[in-house]
Amino acid sequence: MTTFNKVTAAHIAALREIAGAQYVLADEEGMSRYAQDETEDLHYLPEVVVKPDTTEQVSRIMRLCNEELLPVTPRGGGTGLSGGALAQYGGVLISMERFNRITLIDERNLQVITEPGVITEELQNAVKERGLFYPPDPSSRGTCFIGGNIAENSGGPKAVKYGVVKDYVLNLEMVLPNGEVIWTGANVLKNATGYNLTQLVVGSEGTLGIVTKIVLRLIPLPKTDLLMLVPFRSAESACAAVSAIFRAGYTPSAMEFMERDALEWVTQYVQSSAIKIEDDVQAHLLIEVDGNHPEVLMQEMEGIAGVVEAFDIGEILFAEDAQQKEELWRLRRRVAEAVKANSVYKEEDTVVPRAELPVLLKGVKEIGQRYGFHSVCYGHAGDGNLHVNIIRGTLTEEQWNGTLTEGIREIFQLVKKLGGTISGEHGIGLVQKSYMDIIFDQTSMQLMKQIKQIFDPKNILNRGKIFDC
Ligand SMILES: Cc1cc2nc3c(=O)[nH]c(=O)nc-3n(C[C@H](O)[C@H](O)[C@H](O)COP(=O)(O)OP(=O)(O)OC[C@H]3O[C@@H](n4cnc5c(N)ncnc54)[C@H](O)[C@@H]3O)c2cc1C
Repeated sequence: MTTFNKVTAAHIAALREIAGAQYVLADEEGMSRYAQDETEDLHYLPEVVVKPDTTEQVSRIMRLCNEELLPVTPRGGGTGLSGGALAQYGGVLISMERFNRITLIDERNLQVITEPGVITEELQNAVKERGLFYPPDPSSRGTCFIGGNIAENSGGPKAVKYGVVKDYVLNLEMVLPNGEVIWTGANVLKNATGYNLTQLVVGSEGTLGIVTKIVLRLIPLPKTDLLMLVPFRSAESACAAVSAIFRAGYTPSAMEFMERDALEWVTQYVQSSAIKIEDDVQAHLLIEVDGNHPEVLMQEMEGIAGVVEAFDIGEILFAEDAQQKEELWRLRRRVAEAVKANSVYKEEDTVVPRAELPVLLKGVKEIGQRYGFHSVCYGHAGDGNLHVNIIRGTLTEEQWNGTLTEGIREIFQLVKKLGGTISGEHGIGLVQKSYMDIIFDQTSMQLMKQIKQIFDPKNILNRGKIFDC
């Protein structure tokens, strides 16, 4: 493996010349906020942070780093949950925060051309003003960047009806590790021209190149929606209800699962009095339908209510107005924060075919009992995507960083057995790479490493993320 060089004063001077002196940080205090993301308690200080704002600057920085063998870490909003934006080898961290312009909202073609440092919610709001919709909406949408979403192939509550980021990306401008600039595709809805480089880059976690411009497909904004919160007396029944709803012919625009602890903790954390959780309730499903015809949506809601009735439920809360909807969504979106505030935890981003959710949940709890950990589960149930938050609680250091690894391995082996995989939307990054062997055989891993080698022969870009090579 190539050995990296340390960043020198001459390198810093060269970076200042490229990006402007005020956009290069080399002091520990200034760089400290770039030393972590939202992943557990990891901390890696880069040697220098640079904030370019043109493709040409990124290209010159990459050329310099490639020639000088300096490790490079691209960074978006820093909300990642697998450590992808952490400068594990020190070196140069490229923050994309100044790439924050929406270049063009193309209403004729229902497309938007944007820079990667635009905050996801800001892009959604900008297109919404034109009656258009960009559905992928990670719960972190108020702080994460579109570029980070592309690198992680992010999802979110709307994915169940509208798909994830990959379903909206048409074309990408990208700077390769050697500084060359390419476009990966074309601004078209169909493309059968050669290998699909665009989709290769989506979800590649900043290991193949730095995305500097993005063309996204948009759809018309649905005019209205309805929301309900369904309490279940058994968490497994809540999971079983999920696939029953789809089998009955409904496709909700969101279907989120929250175990009792998740909703209780977030209610306390944000000090909400919006809901009362009855003593015998073990889990909730938050279910939304959207469309253009209120009467059709009402029928769908009634139909879904009819389906869930068979699963031992409490009283359904139908959101009456925009304010109540907003409050229920606020609770759901802030669950992760509430769990984090409650305890040190490790989050596993399991995903299985949705009908297997009850088996997965049961298995997670059984494994937890054997290894002595408590877990709080929630997630995008309609996608079969269950976030398993393992709570540190009273686990010793030896249990937390030792035997627990085996427990997590068992969870992932179960996921694989059920036809699923170890990350639905958070990526592999640093924290899940030691489990990749559960999912991929040697041949597949080798193919991925060869792809990385072709894009980045000196292995300078986000080395050590997804796999070691
Ligand atoms: C409270 C909370 C809720 C969340 N909810 C969801 C959710 O519902 N759904 C979901 O999918 N995720 C969710 N996440 C995870 C996270 O927000 C997403 O992974 C998000 O896409 C990360 O974007 P970011 O801009 O913060 O990227 P960062 O964390 O900065 O970086 C993520 C990866 O992208 C790479 N990268 C960033 N910009 C570029 C670029 N321009 N070119 C190449 N590589 C780049 C980085 O190197 C890194 O590997 C949540 C996180 C939190 C903290």
